[in-house]
Amino acid sequence: IQRIVVKVGTSTLTTENGHLDIEKIKRIVLELSNLQDKGYDVILVTSGAVGAGMGLLNISEKPKTLAEKQMLSAVGQVSLMQIYQTLFKEHNKIIGQLLLTKEEFSNRKRYLNMRNVCNAFLKRKIIPIINENDAIVSNALKIKVGDNDTMSALVSGLIDADLLIILSDIDGLYNKNPRKYDDANLINMVGDINEDIKQMAGAEGSKFGTGGMITKIIAAEMVTKIGTSLVIASGDDPHNITRIVEKENIGTLFV
Ligand code: ADP
Repeated sequence: IQRIVVKVGTSTLTTENGHLDIEKIKRIVLELSNLQDKGYDVILVTSGAVGAGMGLLNISEKPKTLAEKQMLSAVGQVSLMQIYQTLFKEHNKIIGQLLLTKEEFSNRKRYLNMRNVCNAFLKRKIIPIINENDAIVSNALKIKVGDNDTMSALVSGLIDADLLIILSDIDGLYNKNPRKYDDANLINMVGDINEDIKQMAGAEGSKFGTGGMITKIIAAEMVTKIGTSLVIASGDDPHNITRIVEKENIGTLFV
C-alpha cells in the first residue's frame, strides 16, 4: 500500500447535537500524520462543514431548507479547515483544501487538470483535504446518493489509490441494519457486490449522516472495479485507520 484515501463522515465528526467533535478530529489528524511519516501518501475526504456551521451559529437542529444548509456548509467549511490546519500544523504538516464537484470527474480536461493538482500536492507532501463543494452544488445536500462516499471513490480513482478507508459510526456492513435488528451480523469481506449486498445496505442513515450504507456500497463498487480495496470501519476509534493499513482484520473489506 502506498496511497491511502480516508473518508470521514458526518456521524464520525460530530457529536449528539450535531456540532464538531474536536477531540475526535485531533485523533484522526494524529493517525494521518503518523501514516505520512511512515511514507504513505494520505488524502482526506471530510464531511462536517454543516456541523461546524451549526456549532458556530449555535444551532442544534438540522437545517430545514437547502439554502440554509448551503449557508451553514459555507460558514462551517472555513472553520473546519481552520481546525484541520491548526491540528495538522502541530505535526508539522501542511494541508490544502480542494472543494470539488462531480463535474470535475465527467469532463476529461478538468479531470486531467484535477489529477495534476492532486499529484502536485502529494509530491510536496501536502495533505489534500477534499470536500464536495456543497455551497454551490444546487442539489448536493438534498439528495442522498451523491455525498462524500461517492466523492471519495472518485478521488481514489483520480489519484490511483491502493486503499480507501471509509469511517462511519458503525463498524462495517451488516447483513441487515443493526440499528433495527438485534441479530444482525457484521460481514468481514465482500468479493462480489451483488443485489443481495445492496439489499442489506438499505437506504437509511444515522441522524446527521447523509448517505447511509448504500452510498458506501456504491463507492465500493466503483473502486473495486479499478483494483482499489475499500474498508468500511468505525471512526469511534480513529486508530482503526492504522490498524487497517497494517492489515488487521477489522470492519468490512471489499476487494
Ligand atoms: P456517515 O455519516 O458516516 O456517512 P451514515 O449515517 O450515512 O454514516 O451511514 C451509516 C449508518 O447506516 C449506520 O449508522 C446505520 O444506521 C445505517 N445502516 C443501514 N443499513 C446498514 C447495514 N446493513 N449495515 C450497517 N449500517 C447500516
